[in-house]
Amino acid sequence: MPHDDHDHPHSLLPSEPALRVKALESVLVAKGLVDPAAMAAILETYETRVGPHLGARVVARAWADLNFRALLFENANAAMAELGITGRQGEHVVAVENTPGTHNMVVCTLCSCYPWPLLGIPPAWYKSDAYRARAVREPRKVLAEFGVTLPEAQKVRVWDSTAEVRYLVVPMRPEGTDGMDEAALAALVTRDSMIGTGLPLAP
Ligand code: FE
Repeated sequence: MPHDDHDHPHSLLPSEPALRVKALESVLVAKGLVDPAAMAAILETYETRVGPHLGARVVARAWADLNFRALLFENANAAMAELGITGRQGEHVVAVENTPGTHNMVVCTLCSCYPWPLLGIPPAWYKSDAYRARAVREPRKVLAEFGVTLPEAQKVRVWDSTAEVRYLVVPMRPEGTDGMDEAALAALVTRDSMIGTGLPLAP
């Protein structure tokens, strides 16, 4: 359907998503529903300070410290708090452990629930209809498209996030990392490895 079709209700809106967002923002500000300074501060926080480097610190600590690891799987929020990580969209996190027998993968089939304090803002593909539908139906095929091929014997378990529960995948510690400190380990932990659509980097 052509986008300049005047019978189409969307023709009344700016066609570019950015313009639509701007228009919506203008209305909210004009009505006094949103404080532009507060909104700018939130965006700044998630663009620069909160991101996958925080989740990577948690994973690296879990690889290096058995007590922390035990706490992480028992009460992820308590473990996160030890590293000063708290915040909205991360109030109830459950950490799931990759093992030689099980690979975990996270999706939100309903919308795009995601552990923001650990991983920042979700990537566009995480929010796509295709990922949300296919992650559940054909996880191995989706993984292959991400460049991940798992041994047949390793089963794939898919976790569906909700507004209440967000998941953090704790990947297996890569071979050849004995003696590496937490900062060096954290550098191997990719965002996708904590969603389950990737694996950590090799040292
Ligand atoms: Fe959601």
